[in-house]
Amino acid sequence: MTNLTGRIQQEEAAERLPAARALWRQSSTRVSVTNPVRTVLAGMAAGAERCMYCGDNQGTDIDHHEPMARDPLRTFDWLNHLLACSHCNSHHKRERFPVDEYGRPLLIDPSAEDPFDHLLLSLSVGEYRALTEKGRASIDVFGLNRPILARGRQQAFNVVVMCLRQWPDAVSGKSAYQPDQVVHIIREQPCADVCQAMLRQVELPGASVVFKDVPEIVAVLRDEGLRGALLR
Ligand SMILES: [Zn+2]
Repeated sequence: MTNLTGRIQQEEAAERLPAARALWRQSSTRVSVTNPVRTVLAGMAAGAERCMYCGDNQGTDIDHHEPMARDPLRTFDWLNHLLACSHCNSHHKRERFPVDEYGRPLLIDPSAEDPFDHLLLSLSVGEYRALTEKGRASIDVFGLNRPILARGRQQAFNVVVMCLRQWPDAVSGKSAYQPDQVVHIIREQPCADVCQAMLRQVELPGASVVFKDVPEIVAVLRDEGLRGALLR
C-alpha cells in the first residue's frame, strides 16, 4: 500500500485522482490489497461481518472514509478503509464528506472516535439523536435514521433483553446456557450498536427511566462480568 501511494504521489496533482482510481481497480490490486484488507476489516466488524455504518447488512465493500476524490493520496491508507454494505456505500455515503468552516471533517470516523460521544440512541424508537454537529452530519450522510434501521434496532433491543434475562441463571448454572454462550449470541446479533448503547445508558443518571419497562435487566447490564465480555 505504501508503494502504491508512492506511485500516486509521483503524478502531477491533476493526474493523481485518475491514477488512484486506475490503481484501485486493477486486478493485481485486488489480489495484493483489496481482498486482504476486506478480510481483516471483516474480522474487526461487529457481529457477522456487519457494515460499519448501519450495523445491519453484511459489509461487502471497502469504503474510503475520506473519498478518493478529496484526497487521492489516502486511497491506500489503511486508516481510511472501512467495511460498508453496498446500500450505505452507494446510496448514502457515496462521495459525501462534509467539513466545517475550518475544513475539519464533520463525519464521525468510527475507527478513531467513539460514536456515542456524538450520538444518543433512543432505545424506545431505535433512532439516533445528535449530540454534536458531527452527530448531525453523520445521521444525515449515513442515513442512520432510515425506518428499516430503526425497526431493526427495536428488534435487536428485544433480543438483547431476552438474552440478558438468561444471564443470572447462566452464571449460577441454572440455565441451559453458559455465560459465554449468552455473550456469543448477543455479540453475533446485527445492530450491535443497540447493546453498546444499553451498556452506556445504564451508567447514566436517567437509567431507571430508560429501562422502566424492563427493570430486571438494569442489574445485569451493570454486572462486571457481562460488561467485561461485551465492552471488549
Ligand atoms: Zn450499511
